[in-house]
Amino acid sequence: MRVPVLAGNWKMYKTAGESAAFAKGFLPLVAGVSGVEIVLAPPFPSIATLSAALKGSGVRVASQNVHFASEGAYTGEVSPAMVKDAGATHCIIGHSERRQYFAEDDASVNRKVRAALAAGLTPILCLGETLSEREGGKAFDVVSRQLRDGVREISAGEAAKILLAYEPVWAIGTGKTATPEQAQEVHGFLRARMKEIWGEAGANVRVLYGGSVKPDNIAALMAKEDIDGALVGGASLSPESFARIVKFQ
Ligand code: PEP
Repeated sequence: MRVPVLAGNWKMYKTAGESAAFAKGFLPLVAGVSGVEIVLAPPFPSIATLSAALKGSGVRVASQNVHFASEGAYTGEVSPAMVKDAGATHCIIGHSERRQYFAEDDASVNRKVRAALAAGLTPILCLGETLSEREGGKAFDVVSRQLRDGVREISAGEAAKILLAYEPVWAIGTGKTATPEQAQEVHGFLRARMKEIWGEAGANVRVLYGGSVKPDNIAALMAKEDIDGALVGGASLSPESFARIVKFQ
């Protein structure tokens, strides 16, 4: 039984005060919702405030990145233990914007996933192909490589603690969602690959879809066999819209 996960990635939006205001508006809208896990990923400076505002609600907090070292001379970076101390339970790793603008590659993503696991955080490992890779017929090769290299040296036992997010780059922030069939095709492929890597443990890893998820397309995506949740950017910024996504059933 794979419990659905609905995660909001706020990117570089919302101050601490705005995060607290979101929580105040959002929690009453999802009171009584059960059978799903809800995660919100604010910018680093809002993690502590948002965690405090969500305390006791069951809604979890994620960072949008972490460094792979536990501490050290890495100006501008934040360690897994630091985000955990601030209240995060999850962290997004390898988001395509990090890969595109901050030169993250599969090797650094893998170091981050292992560091997050070692610190007791749940990594949300993002992968997905660009438009030219899809048009060139390389989508499956790309996600297969990103998965293989991103989870290197991670055991079947640890796999249970990971979430994957398939986010086709051409669908992020563009308003172009993959069709449920296109998304399912890749999710099914990733599940088969995970079974090759981890055996039966791979069958239980939850795979979220991300890329222009909205209140009006979430249900069709979630109806697909291998889509276990969503990583939502723009539509997670308003309490009303994200609550509608959380209540997709
Ligand atoms: C994201 O930021 O991971 C994302 C999928 O963004 P959007 O929903 O805005 O496309």
